Amino acid sequence: MECTDREGFSDTARRLAADPRNYGPLDDFNGRARITGPCGDTMEFWLSAANGIVARMTFTTDGCGPSRACGSMATSLVEGRRIEDAAALAQGEILEALGGIPPEFEHCALLAANTVKAACEDYRRRSARGAAEPGAARASCDGCARTDCPASGRGEGESDEEFEDRRQLAARLCRIRRKVIVLSGKGGVGKSTVAVNLAAALVLAGKKVGLLDVDIHGPSIPTMLGLEREKILNSEEGIVPVDLGLLKVMSLGFLLPSADDAVIWRGPMKMAVIKQFLKDVAWGDLDYLVVDSPPGTGDEPLSVCQLIGPVDGALIVTTPQKVAAVDVRKSVTFCRRLDVPILGIVENMSGFTCPRCGETTPILRAGGGRRTAEDMGVPFLGSIPMDPQIAEACDDGRTFVARYAASATAKIMRSILDPIAAQHDAEDRTAAARARNDKEDK
Ligand code: ADP
Repeated sequence: MECTDREGFSDTARRLAADPRNYGPLDDFNGRARITGPCGDTMEFWLSAANGIVARMTFTTDGCGPSRACGSMATSLVEGRRIEDAAALAQGEILEALGGIPPEFEHCALLAANTVKAACEDYRRRSARGAAEPGAARASCDGCARTDCPASGRGEGESDEEFEDRRQLAARLCRIRRKVIVLSGKGGVGKSTVAVNLAAALVLAGKKVGLLDVDIHGPSIPTMLGLEREKILNSEEGIVPVDLGLLKVMSLGFLLPSADDAVIWRGPMKMAVIKQFLKDVAWGDLDYLVVDSPPGTGDEPLSVCQLIGPVDGALIVTTPQKVAAVDVRKSVTFCRRLDVPILGIVENMSGFTCPRCGETTPILRAGGGRRTAEDMGVPFLGSIPMDPQIAEACDDGRTFVARYAASATAKIMRSILDPIAAQHDAEDRTAAARARNDKEDK
């Protein structure tokens, strides 16, 4: 049975799923993009434009019916548009034009819109070939006019090499709008799971995201995203992260010859590797860098925070039982000492909801995360239950919030993670409005 045979699909969606218009590669293209969404589907779009107007757009997808319907509708909608209007194609427009698909497949429209946007960006880049690539001038500090940059002056007693290292790090991080670090008091509480799903939620909100796994002892992000076979490549710009379209991924796991290898690095070596990762990865321009930190409050998370600082926010992941509370307190104190703003505490593995009868059993004693948050005066963001589909999605290399978007647990997770970007977007709007008012007043 095709998934479009289910209820909730309009006739248009069913027709395009069965017989997609504009399907297949385009030979004569001048814009092209390929993106793998957090659900694991890969879409590729080809664009032929003349004088800044889309003459034709085609696509392919390895996803099923809804993916074909959304891709097809996206290509039809942008034909004849100016490139900047095509790049602004929104998920909502595709869904509206399709006239109905079930909510759990709406992410296909977002992936289609994002891939159209990326193809338009590729067209612009090709058109401007010969001129500087966007952001190229900022690939080094040379020519940067920022006066508040932490690398603008040489530190006392700093060697040439140390100063150059710091400048290179600043040049990379300068192109990242916001940095969020995911912390936990100990391993195994779901820190990487939250980091991956936060990155996915940000991508679903249309952000360009980097996900950096510096959990030296258990780099699990490659498995969680199905990237175990990826190896690190180098370019002139530095180490190339694995590019999944809006999401770029770098993990210490990519350095290991096989998943069974243990990392036996001594203290200073660990710090050097962490530093190299932060300094040498060619992220390009990002809206967010989500950092999956090593657990605890020792030297490793300390190095990460000091090197990437200023951090825009820390998400602290814990489990409900009393013994975990001690570690959370340490994590809160750690953030306060380092002046890292705390976005809040997330309680994971908070009860088990039986998929058969719906009853929730508090396997680990519940409420520890909320109590600690209240005691320490930090926001409590919510509780994620134990859900076998979370573990399944992690093992299958799929992000839970995209793969099981319609499930009750995914909705809980989104209700915890979505407000992070929403809050930052609201801050940006307020700052932009203030800047406009100041300009008018002058
Ligand atoms: P950490 O990064 O803190 O070491 P992980 O995110 O790697 O922890 O999670 C450890 C294991 O627990 C993974 O297999 C993951 O799939 C699973 N897991 C995490 N959170 C949940 C949950 N709420 N329900 C079910 N399994 C979970």
